[in-house]
Amino acid sequence: AAGLSTADDAIAVAIANEKTRQRESIELIASENFVSQAVLDAQGSVLTNKYAEGYPHRRYYGGCANVDVVEDLAIARANQLFGSAYANVQPHSGSQANQAVFLALLKPDDTILGLDLKAGGHLTHGAPVNMSDRWFNVVSYGVDPESHLIDMDQVAQLAHQHRPKLLIAGGSAYPRIMDFSRFREIADKVGAILLVDMAHFAGLVAGGVYPSPVPFADVVTSTTHKTLRGPRGGFVLTNDAEVAKKINSATFPGLQGGPLMHVIAAKAVAFGEALQPSFKIYTRAVVENCRVLAKALSDGGLKITSGGTDCHLAVVDLRPFGVTGNIAEKALESVGITLNKNAIPNDPEKPMVTSGIRVGSAAGTSRGFGVDEYREIATLIFDTLHAVRGGTLDADRQRINGRVRQLVVHFPLPY
Ligand code: PLP
Repeated sequence: AAGLSTADDAIAVAIANEKTRQRESIELIASENFVSQAVLDAQGSVLTNKYAEGYPHRRYYGGCANVDVVEDLAIARANQLFGSAYANVQPHSGSQANQAVFLALLKPDDTILGLDLKAGGHLTHGAPVNMSDRWFNVVSYGVDPESHLIDMDQVAQLAHQHRPKLLIAGGSAYPRIMDFSRFREIADKVGAILLVDMAHFAGLVAGGVYPSPVPFADVVTSTTHKTLRGPRGGFVLTNDAEVAKKINSATFPGLQGGPLMHVIAAKAVAFGEALQPSFKIYTRAVVENCRVLAKALSDGGLKITSGGTDCHLAVVDLRPFGVTGNIAEKALESVGITLNKNAIPNDPEKPMVTSGIRVGSAAGTSRGFGVDEYREIATLIFDTLHAVRGGTLDADRQRINGRVRQLVVHFPLPY
């Protein structure tokens, strides 16, 4: 049988080029990671051929004995990892995990209260361009303009004023630990359901370096592909049997058809890896590396929003250098450093421009970078920004890229 390179050269070449890009660049995108060969093998398996609508041992298709083993293991490992009673591992993505919660627990026009996209929230938490805003009455909380921390008094005040049906904690660019106990208290006071979307920090929770939301939230959603280092996908956890039942019906048949069994197999492998003692060591290193990177960037004259980080990501205010996020993103990509532009709190620039960048340590730590490498990365970022400012990037690009390659060559990917 023909393999990919003989069957479809165009796609084979694009994949090979992407592998080279991943091998030869420094990955600082905070929502990305490098999965193990085992996760990749599970996802690239014959399970992609199988229809399995329904749940283990209650399927609408025959031939599901093997995929039942896979999904049972994925569920059991997710529950063991996070100390939850019920898990649904079928959502195709983090967004669909959130949509499953909305469909299960809300009605159209209900009020939801979440972190504003501009302050680090996620699109699905009520951004104007998202379904969550079209279908629900959205109220957003922000961060304190000085400390950049979530203003819990504002959350309480908005909750009392608007009586949301759903209160959402979690975000995509929030670098600090969230006060789940205070969120719980506020939700209880106004009779709201508490959803914690731990997509970004799920791996850190699994590794014990970030507090678990599971004891506080009515329902927890997540992705599997960020700090958790699994395949692209989502899942939902809860300790409440009634909520679990509603989430199951909302996911299938409410929102999705057949589950992606190859992805669920890869999720099970990733959960299994996260249960190993080595994953604790990995997550400790992720946080330490991010702190070192943020400190080095701050020591060199950039501003770190909230003054630092408690997790795998930091948001960097570039205004002291007079460079915008979009220009920095492009310039850094051209030297082999990949990251994304990111709004800073109360950013005066448009979303496609921004005053900041977001950096993350989950991917680099997976390939073995330690504190020395992250200090060197900060130096490379400064060299690039200086070159942008001085108009010398074209002349300096090759030299900086040479140093990027020198660094990555010592930390090969397993594929
Ligand atoms: N929730 C949060 C907090 C996220 O950061 C993300 C992804 O960036 C998602 C949900 C959505 O995940 P996906 O991209 O898999 O739909």
